[in-house]
Amino acid sequence: MSVLKILVYPDKKLREITVPVVEFNAQLQQQVASLFETMYDDDGCGLAANQVGLTARMFVMDTSRDKSNPICMINPEITHRSGIIMSDEGCLSFPGVYTSVERAEQITVTFQDVKGQKQELCLTELAANCVQHEMDHLNGILFIDTLSKLKKDRMLRKLAKSLGA
Ligand SMILES: [Zn+2]
Repeated sequence: MSVLKILVYPDKKLREITVPVVEFNAQLQQQVASLFETMYDDDGCGLAANQVGLTARMFVMDTSRDKSNPICMINPEITHRSGIIMSDEGCLSFPGVYTSVERAEQITVTFQDVKGQKQELCLTELAANCVQHEMDHLNGILFIDTLSKLKKDRMLRKLAKSLGA
């Protein structure tokens, strides 16, 4: 297990589409453990594999704020969405900036756990927002992509400031 380096926008790897996981082996377990460690180390509530340069289609999340609800989703699919809410979001690849994004209020997501077992969860609120944000990462989509040019420019200026550029 180790803390990995989180790639920061505009790193090109953040735009790469992840590849489905087929082997649920010890190496995968180690990668998942490192993802959790890296996410907790940076006080995040979600981290996708391609944010640390891995190509596997998976992410980790924990919306409990006290590390009590770690969830790893491998090969996730959102099978149902309902309602619309505006979600205030940050991203570990955009340190120091936050914005409001339109998300489904409720989702059902199916995925495999680290042992390859099929799981299904119905989620709302922060957990639902988190899954949608991380699913976007797995498809190379970032939370700034839906913003108007004006808002996006403002956000990228803030990001540059926060990175000390
Ligand atoms: Zn993110």
